[in-house]
Amino acid sequence: TGGEGGVRWGTLVASFSLLEVESAIASRRMSLALASLLVIVITGLTVYQALSGLVIVPVRELHSAAVRIKEGDLSVRMDAETTEGELRLLAQVFNEMASQLKDHTAQLEGDVQRRNDELQAANQELELINLRLGKALARLADQANTDGLTGLLNHRRLQEKLTLELQRCLRQEHPLSVLMIDVDHFKSYNDYHGHPRGDHVLREVASIFKQSLRDLDLVARYGGEEFAVVLLDTPAGAAALVAEKLRAAVEEYPFPGAELSQPLGRLTISVGVASFPEDGLSPVEILDAADRALYRAKDRGRNGVVSAGERPEFS
Ligand code: GH3
Ligand code: MG
Ligand code: MG
Repeated sequence: TGGEGGVRWGTLVASFSLLEVESAIASRRMSLALASLLVIVITGLTVYQALSGLVIVPVRELHSAAVRIKEGDLSVRMDAETTEGELRLLAQVFNEMASQLKDHTAQLEGDVQRRNDELQAANQELELINLRLGKALARLADQANTDGLTGLLNHRRLQEKLTLELQRCLRQEHPLSVLMIDVDHFKSYNDYHGHPRGDHVLREVASIFKQSLRDLDLVARYGGEEFAVVLLDTPAGAAALVAEKLRAAVEEYPFPGAELSQPLGRLTISVGVASFPEDGLSPVEILDAADRALYRAKDRGRNGVVSAGERPEFS
């Protein structure tokens, strides 16, 4: 062709395989990916290493210290110097908290100990008061049952005891006797020697009775110069002998000044004897019978013993 047209010399055909290109790209990608992974792993390991020293180890130590505190070991402390930044602050705060906890606990324990001591002291005092109260009550009960002048049972206690003993005698079909005793012409003694010496005589009479009787017999001051004795398991005959023994013991006792004041020249007693079951079944019946016998003894001239079962004498 002419003109400006070119000459076509030929056609160059270049061909290449697309597959090879793609495979090359894939291979590059793989290498890149592996390289990136390696970088990530190395970076991760490095970061972990760094974090482990800076964060993980201190946090674990903090945790184990907290656990020990929970278990009661308040002396545990963090080493704040080995950490930095926020964690060092945290360790310091933790240590302060542990110190305060320890102080507070020590104070509480001190308080509890003090309270315990106070409580123990109060308890001891209470025990002492209880002991004194018990003794006072026993004394009071004793006073309620005994006669202040002679120490013998009082009228009320004798009635109670007699009631109980009679019930027992009724069950067991045992005998029991009562002596009613009155000091003869005691008014004369008092009038002559005065009341205090009269009181002294009453105490001596009481002690003569106590010495002459068995421990299990009941001896009471029944009224002013009147006494009552309950002889357990004792029938009328034996009771009359005991009554006679008491009468003789008083008659023989050298009461000072009795020869001056007493019409009989000596201080004497009269005794009435009554027995269960023949003279009565109840306390009232038996005491009445003994009282009536006593007044018969007075009628017969005093310084004598009369049993309720004796036939009255008519003169
Ligand atoms: P009797 O032989 O008839 O029993 O004559 P008595 O003088 O003993 O009888 P009375 O009942 O007339 O007097 C009893 C006296 O006992 C009166 C009182 O002076 C005296 N007496 C009563 N209780 C006490 C007391 O506790 N102490 C003293 N010292 N005397 C008392
Ligand atoms: Mg009397
Ligand atoms: Mg009398």
